[in-house]
Amino acid sequence: MLNIAIIGAGPGGLALALRLHQKGFRPTIYEAAPELKPLGVGVDIKVYGTKEITEMGLLEEFRAISVEAIDSLFFTRYGQMIYGEKCGKHMGYPHEQRFVHRGTLQMMLYDAVLKRLGPDSVKLGARCAGFEQDENGVTVHFEAAQSVRHDVLVGADGIKSAVRDQLIPGSRGSHYSGIAMWRGVTVMKPYRNGGTILHLGDPIAQGSMIVYPIANNVDGEGSQLINWVVEQNGQPKSLEDWNQRVSPDEIAHNFDECKLDFVNPGEIIRNAREVYLYPLIDRDPLDQWSFGRVTLTGDAAHAMYPRGGNGLCQALVDARVLAEKLAEMQDPVAALAAYEGARREFANRLVIANRGEGPEVVRRIVEERSGGKPFDDIETIFPIAECEKIFLEYHRMAGMQRPDDAGPLGFRESFFDEGRAQKANVGTDIAGARGAARTAG
Ligand SMILES: Cc1cc2nc3c(=O)[nH]c(=O)nc-3n(C[C@H](O)[C@H](O)[C@H](O)COP(=O)(O)OP(=O)(O)OC[C@H]3O[C@@H](n4cnc5c(N)ncnc54)[C@H](O)[C@@H]3O)c2cc1C
Repeated sequence: MLNIAIIGAGPGGLALALRLHQKGFRPTIYEAAPELKPLGVGVDIKVYGTKEITEMGLLEEFRAISVEAIDSLFFTRYGQMIYGEKCGKHMGYPHEQRFVHRGTLQMMLYDAVLKRLGPDSVKLGARCAGFEQDENGVTVHFEAAQSVRHDVLVGADGIKSAVRDQLIPGSRGSHYSGIAMWRGVTVMKPYRNGGTILHLGDPIAQGSMIVYPIANNVDGEGSQLINWVVEQNGQPKSLEDWNQRVSPDEIAHNFDECKLDFVNPGEIIRNAREVYLYPLIDRDPLDQWSFGRVTLTGDAAHAMYPRGGNGLCQALVDARVLAEKLAEMQDPVAALAAYEGARREFANRLVIANRGEGPEVVRRIVEERSGGKPFDDIETIFPIAECEKIFLEYHRMAGMQRPDDAGPLGFRESFFDEGRAQKANVGTDIAGARGAARTAG
């Protein structure tokens, strides 16, 4: 049985340990942090991510810490509705789309690793400083611990991966989008149906904002933890530190004009429990991931803009495929090459696609066509059929082809026809939805 070392106990490294364990391996994880803490803010786990978590035997645990996504709505900076569509099972997919705190999800995976693989399987305070490999194995060096010998080494050590830096010197530099991201969490009562992701504002003048709930009943009185992200163009690059805290006043005033009946975005920002600033960065796609007995997964292999949860979900897919190849093939070198063959091209395409606007482009289209002014009738400036086409293409590209029999894709006011809503089996608050329709008027 191969003796496998994983560098990094982020969601990617932990998921890989669980997948390898399902295949009969007993890997060891080496993590630089002396203690694992639930850091970060929200991530959007797409249907294919929930599928991976389900196969790992963790769906019930995951449901307990996350919020089901019901629908996804797009509004202009004046709070006028552009487009809406349902999510996950409500859209006809076989799996749920769910929102979760990145740190809580990491802790859920960590607990599962400790339970299934034993407390010795994760070595904390072990920062990998380099490695050497030969025909028979890999010797891994640490900053403040003895070197260890393994058959295979996997770098799951995130966007600043030391393993990647050694394999591919020169890959350290980040690609900066010119966009800064303010990320925060706010405790508040649920809005609409308690499972809506909102896309607000415009990407040109005001900045764009995404809002979604990531935990239920956080105060014992029914409040949710609401995650929000504001992106604004033309900002100087800030620190590449996920934990750089700033004041909500930097950005809240941008959303004072954008009021919906059911939510006040400026207020969400002002009431934030914590706000972080992070540059929208990624790494250029790599030409190679696997080098003999050493390979890369997760952000170490394909750091992408943290939009739409694809970074984390792709790390979950890496974990499954790598474990499958190592279990199927006798020769670990061939297995790592086969893993790269199955994954690299797709992940690289997603890195590049994420640099584009994705479906968020609909807000820019409306901003341009309306001259940045409120409109009378959205249908005359942006027909829903044109809008749906953009979304269909995005879902296909991200590997989430819609089921053929899923029913209508997008909605505007027509969604708020009760008959249609019931037919689509959306367990939504129709009254709240009618409120949204009025703002669309
Ligand atoms: C603190 C933190 C907060 C984040 N917050 C968010 C967020 O709010 N939203 C979002 O979309 N994404 C966030 N991310 C990124 C997100 O976790 C990843 O995009 C995705 O989950 C892929 O996970 P990963 O395990 O590949 O990488 P990561 O989650 O980055 O995990 C990498 C792990 O490797 C460890 N490590 C790094 N270098 C070494 C080394 N030399 N030796 C040993 N261990 C090492 C790190 O401490 C970390 O635990 C965050 C990442 C981090 C590290």
